Amino acid sequence: MQPKKSLGQNFLRDETVLAKIIKAANLSADDFVVEIGPGEGVLTKELVGNSKKIICIEKDENLAKKLADNFQFSIFNFQSILNDPIFNSQNKTAIITGDVLKINLPELIKLNNFKNYKVVANIPYYITSPIIRLFLETKYPPKEMILMVQKEVAERITAKPGQMSILAVSVQYYARPELLFYVDRKAFWPVPEVDSTVIRITPLPSPVASTRHPLPITGEEDNERKKFFKIVKAGFSAKRKTLLNNLSNGLHISKTEVKEILEKAGIKPTQRAQELGIEDWEIITREISANQSE
Ligand code: SAM
Repeated sequence: MQPKKSLGQNFLRDETVLAKIIKAANLSADDFVVEIGPGEGVLTKELVGNSKKIICIEKDENLAKKLADNFQFSIFNFQSILNDPIFNSQNKTAIITGDVLKINLPELIKLNNFKNYKVVANIPYYITSPIIRLFLETKYPPKEMILMVQKEVAERITAKPGQMSILAVSVQYYARPELLFYVDRKAFWPVPEVDSTVIRITPLPSPVASTRHPLPITGEEDNERKKFFKIVKAGFSAKRKTLLNNLSNGLHISKTEVKEILEKAGIKPTQRAQELGIEDWEIITREISANQSE
């Protein structure tokens, strides 16, 4: 079968890298696992042997069918999975054919009692951010994600203040990301044009009394979250401009007011968005809210 470039089909061929992913996933016989893009099943096979139940979501129907035939996995169409649980006493691995971004993830997780699951996957790189967002913003986030991503994207996700981007903020708002190990492009067939890195993303717990945003997200928190990201987006809108300019232009607040807000937050108006950490954005959001309710 000819690999489809449009679906990001680069298959892992390196046994050492495979062993390192399995070690990093630190699975136990009680673990529930979700794999996105099982492809030919190299990783799936290892995951099956090291966990309790697995849901694999594969967009390429031919690949999914072949995988189900080769390993005797149950196969489901993504429209048919929302009425009954997909597991019974006979099966522990289910392949769902369909687009991971179109699946009703919370229903799938709830219906199959997949709470406390891990995501372990060599994901298709063309949808890296939407996949991460899907799992972090859902009502039932995983306890951990072990993901192979493009090396440069891994570095952006795990960036520290000084190098931050909207992507870094949108992952670090929900989770703690870590770089695990580098993977050379030659570990795949066909060889892609980029190198890779395996990362771990650990969603933050729901602390009772903390400034962090507890998960799952309720209506009120959702408003807070929207406000937070509106401010972050305004802050990053023009790369070379200062926070003072970007926030004032993007949020339609006078420069005098923005200056006051930033001063109260202990941030210099001449700083730039990439210099701020999550807590700085949280303080700015709080100060803007306080300012608006005065
Ligand atoms: N896991 C396999 C491996 O390690 O060799 C394959 C990884 S390959 C980088 C990405 C896989 O994701 C491919 O099998 C591709 O068909 C699948 N895929 C692409 N887009 C997808 C989508 N939107 N939803 C689910 N799977 C997708």
